[in-house]
Amino acid sequence: MSEFREQLDRAAQWIDEYYRDPRRFPVLSHAQPGDLHRVLPADAPEDPEPFDRIFDDFERLIIPGITHWNHPRFFAYFANSAAPITVVAEALAAALNVNAMVWRTSPAATELEEVVLDWLRKLLGLDDGLHGIVYDTASIGGFTALAAARESLDLAIRERGMAGRSDLPALRVYLTEHTHSHIEKAAIALGIGRENLVRVPVDANFVMVAAALDRAIAEDLARGMRPMCIAATIGTTSTTSSDPVPVIADVARKHGVWLHVDAAYAGPAAILPEFRHLLAGCEHADSLVINPHKWLFVPVDLSVLYVRDLEILRRAFSLSAVYLETSDGDVRNYMDYGLQLGRRFRALKLWFAMRHYGATGMRERLRSHIALAQEFAAWVEAEPGWEVLAPHPLSVVCFRYVPAGLAPEDIDACNQRMMDEVNASGEIFLSATRLHGRLALRLAIGNEGTTRADVRFAFDILRKAARG
Ligand SMILES: *Cc1c(COP(=O)(O)O)cnc(C)c1O
Repeated sequence: MSEFREQLDRAAQWIDEYYRDPRRFPVLSHAQPGDLHRVLPADAPEDPEPFDRIFDDFERLIIPGITHWNHPRFFAYFANSAAPITVVAEALAAALNVNAMVWRTSPAATELEEVVLDWLRKLLGLDDGLHGIVYDTASIGGFTALAAARESLDLAIRERGMAGRSDLPALRVYLTEHTHSHIEKAAIALGIGRENLVRVPVDANFVMVAAALDRAIAEDLARGMRPMCIAATIGTTSTTSSDPVPVIADVARKHGVWLHVDAAYAGPAAILPEFRHLLAGCEHADSLVINPHKWLFVPVDLSVLYVRDLEILRRAFSLSAVYLETSDGDVRNYMDYGLQLGRRFRALKLWFAMRHYGATGMRERLRSHIALAQEFAAWVEAEPGWEVLAPHPLSVVCFRYVPAGLAPEDIDACNQRMMDEVNASGEIFLSATRLHGRLALRLAIGNEGTTRADVRFAFDILRKAARG
């Protein structure tokens, strides 16, 4: 056996055991800041080191500093998991070291991406006017969409920039207080300015009020400002609320404003016929983001941006350089559709996952997560002194413990203490958000290994923490 094969075998054995029993690790790392710095040498090794020593250190030094997203009791943020088969795909992609910057630098990588994103589009019930592109994250997909929205205004920003131009109106982006922060970052990076982010009011269920959006746009137009983009969310990060995209789309069309839909987490649920309605109205969206690395069982990173007009995106980003010119004819060169030139072969892992589970297998898993979340919410509702704080249509529940007789600040402090305590135990990991000014604990189910017993365990350990 070659030395390389032995190395692969050792890693394969480790990964196999890891997937069989991720529970042997604390879900949240017990590491303290600086732990790894203290044990690693300050300089890179001058001489080669044997594989076994490197691997031993991986187990001994690195693993203790890992928080296990693949742990079935990971309930924080948007819990997710990578299907084991996708690890094989990632290894193969790394082995090939594909850089799919243009079609000819790996034709199969470009074409597989086109094919699997079209499969996914159909599974989601999206119309065929949308074209998909893989980016690393929703943050970059969202940035790219906003860059396209800006380009669509025909303000010659590509050539003339934005600074020092008296002919340029303020460009406005409409969102809510529940919009994911990457939209704000994108506006900063694109020179829109935070002052031009318009926070449209939400209703009691954290959903954008379309009539208020309409008014805000009309007022901006009357003041000579230029509406650039409406960012609607399907499945907000705090509560998974969804803005009313069909009505928002009417407002967008009325005023001729780009509609971007962020469905990073909730989008995948639309592969379930009973949740198809989540993406209603997206036939009028100009762009839409969905994260398979969040809820379709591929490892970080793989996010998909669907856009209606690829040409605008190309106009925003394409440049020709002599050393990159190709004469391959009618093919897609992905370097023309975003900031990055080099790009990983991410589509391979989605292809593996979709084939390995089939749509049926993915649907079963999503349904199970949603059902578990509903059951958890029912337990909370039924428990005296506990309350659910937001509608929970999907796999996330916001809730808290409200012992009688405590002042509002003390209720927050009490829930914070409970969360810190259960997280420190290493048994479960959950996170929090703030709703109507109150701290809300947040349980997110998205791991394929999570069972009813795990969710029950989470409820029981929280109740124990509540008793103090
Ligand atoms: C997670 C999330 C994002 C950010 O996703 P990244 O891929 O980590 O950039 C954006 N929007 C929503 C609604 C999310 O849930």
